[in-house]
Amino acid sequence: MNKIIGVLILILLGFGAVGQQKTISITIDDIPNTSKFQIDGNRAELLDRLDSMNIPFAIFINENKVYQKGSLEHNKDLLARWIAHEKSTVGNHSFSHFRYSEVGFERFIEDVQKGLELTDSISSHYGKSINFFRFPFNDLGKDSVQQVQIRKYLKDQAFEIAPFTVESSDWMFDTVYKYYLEKGEYEKAEELGDQYVAKTMELLLFFERLGNEIYDRSISQIYLCHDNSINADFLPKLVQELGKEGYEIVGFEETLKDPVYNQEDNYYQKWGISWFYRWMKTQKERVEWMKQEPELTELQKLYDQVVGN
Ligand SMILES: [Zn+2]
Repeated sequence: MNKIIGVLILILLGFGAVGQQKTISITIDDIPNTSKFQIDGNRAELLDRLDSMNIPFAIFINENKVYQKGSLEHNKDLLARWIAHEKSTVGNHSFSHFRYSEVGFERFIEDVQKGLELTDSISSHYGKSINFFRFPFNDLGKDSVQQVQIRKYLKDQAFEIAPFTVESSDWMFDTVYKYYLEKGEYEKAEELGDQYVAKTMELLLFFERLGNEIYDRSISQIYLCHDNSINADFLPKLVQELGKEGYEIVGFEETLKDPVYNQEDNYYQKWGISWFYRWMKTQKERVEWMKQEPELTELQKLYDQVVGN
């Protein structure tokens, strides 16, 4: 009898391992892209694409963008559309996108508050609350003193810091992509878009392996990208690739239920590294893993050429 139960348990365990669903959340920073909105004749292409894909996503807002380009009324409507979307989780990304380590505590928290003026009222109108804050550049301060200070502030304000596990320098891909489009080099643009998708998958699989090696299971991943042209055109392809790799796209809050996110942050420098690296206890371990991370050298070269470095 015991033997049978033992066999059954083994079968169930085996099934659990095979059937373990890999999950990922998509998070989009620097919302709303009012420059692109204006160029596209007041169409929100990325939001339209997300709409048609019917997947959950989180957005991190920089309200200053509402005042930068085009019509204020249209921009406010655009912001409201992002916030009102039934699949969006809404977060603050500060008003001006300052680097915390550069501007310091006082100026930074003023900007965090300022970043809520429209967002707060629109959100409550749609019955949503803003529980997350994502640091611009994921810069949590120049040292542990600055980090402890801001953590306390955000906690008092009932903000949870929004982590991420994977990013692929989509903003760099986007700069080169737009350059090709502007020059009418559509084939190159298309090729670069495919490279963006491939590189993102390569990075995700690297962090998947890292998660598996350290925690001995699949960790719920968080992808960080931006409201830009390359995502408006290539996010659907990326989502397709995620599906092929067996990832289910889940809401941000659901991902954060993974206990991996309850771990201590052990990193006290200003660089915006993956939370996997932040959780590591030593710089030595961090460097060991970072050395294995897929490179972006080719992209960096192209980017430098385009921006004229
Ligand atoms: Zn940002």
